[in-house]
Amino acid sequence: MNKTNVLSVSGGKDSTAMYLLAMERGIEFRAVFADTGNEHKITLEYIRELPKRTGGPVIEWVTADFAEDISRKKRVIADKWARENVPEWKREQAIAALQPSGHQFLDLCKVHGRFPSTRARFCSSELKHEPIYRVHESLMDQGKTVISWQGVRAEESPRRAALPEMDWPAPNLCNYRPILRWTLDEVVAIHARHGLELNPLYQMGMNRVGCMPCIHSRKSEIKRIAELFPEYIEKVEIWEEQVRQAAKRNEATATFFAQDVTPLGRKTKSPQGIREVVRWAKTGPGGDVRQLTLDLGDDHQCLSAMGACE
Ligand code: SF4
Repeated sequence: MNKTNVLSVSGGKDSTAMYLLAMERGIEFRAVFADTGNEHKITLEYIRELPKRTGGPVIEWVTADFAEDISRKKRVIADKWARENVPEWKREQAIAALQPSGHQFLDLCKVHGRFPSTRARFCSSELKHEPIYRVHESLMDQGKTVISWQGVRAEESPRRAALPEMDWPAPNLCNYRPILRWTLDEVVAIHARHGLELNPLYQMGMNRVGCMPCIHSRKSEIKRIAELFPEYIEKVEIWEEQVRQAAKRNEATATFFAQDVTPLGRKTKSPQGIREVVRWAKTGPGGDVRQLTLDLGDDHQCLSAMGACE
């Protein structure tokens, strides 16, 4: 079989463990990282350094491109929004806001006129899956069979536990999950065998690495991000304003976190910007502890079966 192994790498511990496992098996493979444009610089650096530190293959960077979607949305604003009597000033503001920003995450939100949420999880599919799938597709177009290695583990959630180790969504595409039954100890051990530290963000209080922040970030993580990386909170504040401008109305969904994340948002049913969310994240047990008391289940995890977001 003319097959090619393609590993989806995120900079997190599980996909890194899978990369190291592929090296230990001595197989030829390609490794692909989909940059969401909302990654932490430490993760980007970790990905850059991984081949140098391990002697493994280079990691190919892929990104989504929303230039065409932005052009299409501008036409919708000029045409459909005008017919819907959206005020002229709002149409002009939205068109002005719809400039490609160089940050795929932001462009995606502008195109949707909203941020993704735990109920509308379009970010991982459009920012992670599709760019990686394009790599698969181009190999399949060349007549190759793609073995898509996915670094997910059953321990992480019931949904992942229900996945098979291998399945074939198409005759020439196989999803392979070689560390599905691994424990966290095994993940840590393979890093140690290769003299490799885990992504330093774990040591800094993050439960997962990837987007900074992620729509699934927990209360404790948001607090840590605000303490350690205030520039990422500032970035979100700027993005919220830009998405609001690109949206048809000042929708509740033009805030990074859904309005029901904080007690105030749930009570008032009004959007809570990142600053309000950070204020809430800094409250202790006397504040709302809803997220702190939840296990890291599917509600707080990317639903990607691919594990392209950790
Ligand atoms: S699920 Fe989180 S890490 Fe994945 S693309 Fe969305 S925000 Fe980024």
